[in-house]
Amino acid sequence: MQLAFTFRALLTRVVFGAGKRESVKAEADMLGLKRPLVITGRQQSDLGKALAARHAWPHWDGAKMHTPVEATEAALVFYLAEKCDGVVALGGGSSIGLGKALALRTDCNQICIPTTFAGSEMTNILGETSGGAKTTKRDAKIQPETVIYDPELVASLPPALAATSGMNAIAHAVEGLYAVDGNPIVSLMAEEGIAALAAALPARDNARALYGAWLCGTVLGSVSMSLHHKLCHVLGGTFNLPHAETHTVVLPHATAYNASAAPEAMARIARALVAKSAASGLFDLAQKLGAPTSLRQLGLEESAFDKAADMAVAAPYPNPRPLERAALRQLLQNAYDGRRPVE
Ligand code: NAD
Repeated sequence: MQLAFTFRALLTRVVFGAGKRESVKAEADMLGLKRPLVITGRQQSDLGKALAARHAWPHWDGAKMHTPVEATEAALVFYLAEKCDGVVALGGGSSIGLGKALALRTDCNQICIPTTFAGSEMTNILGETSGGAKTTKRDAKIQPETVIYDPELVASLPPALAATSGMNAIAHAVEGLYAVDGNPIVSLMAEEGIAALAAALPARDNARALYGAWLCGTVLGSVSMSLHHKLCHVLGGTFNLPHAETHTVVLPHATAYNASAAPEAMARIARALVAKSAASGLFDLAQKLGAPTSLRQLGLEESAFDKAADMAVAAPYPNPRPLERAALRQLLQNAYDGRRPVE
């Protein structure tokens, strides 16, 4: 057994449990926050308004998918005018993304209260869009200081969103298991994260699913991602496909692409899914959850394949199997057609 790795200790304070959203004031006090800005998207505005009103904190409901820079600039003007000294991001990856974008610009402390399984709260990564292109940064200022996981907040997530958001989380763990900078602790979290989500999503066990999402988010924040995340980044950032749905459709196909080059990771993924193989197990899980399984369903045009394949091979990045343009184009075709992957 060849054993050599680097492990970075986890940085974020995590408070987990039903009703724990009530501890937000105590957590803010612990960070020395007197007037944090509560951030939500428009759809969760009422939830944010209620939380903000309870503590006499300001509220901003302008969070948007893929963190457009213009939305951040508008929020920053409000943040400064209101003399805020931190953020409380309440919602999915879009709210948390806006909180991170403000923290990057102001170096303020962040409390995240996630209501989806996307996992952004556990990472020092920020993806921002400007002029139709999405760029990703890693910075210590982006890493949230405190995360409150309250399964009661996930109960309102519609089944379709719970399914795709859960598959999005699983994608982090899948790629963590074959990451070039992987390590044994992260692999344990990844396998447990996949197992928890695969069991919890069909049963709508929100606490167990959120526990899995925490593990998968931690994996995303700890090690490098590969082909799958690159493809989804291109499809979301350039072709404006919806984030979690795109992850759901692409994951089985990206996994099949890498299967022969990462046998140990595949065995662990299959074991966690209680399936015969990793890629088909992921496809079957998406189907069982009633989630989309084809890029056609998401509105992608076939004419996009060439540009997407070019972009996926343009800047090299580590991936278990070398990036072959023709094979990647075929991967996109398979994902477009919604074929059950063959390994
Ligand atoms: P989202 O935050 O846009 O939420 C999707 C929709 O679900 C929204 O309309 C929201 O109002 C609604 N919603 C959220 N929670 C709900 C709940 N409990 N009940 C009812 N409705 C609810 O989407 P997302 O999938 O959570 O996040 C996607 C975004 O996060 C993307 O921009 C992606 O790039 C980013 N992301 C970043 C990282 C990172 O590490 N930087 C990781 C994962 C995702």
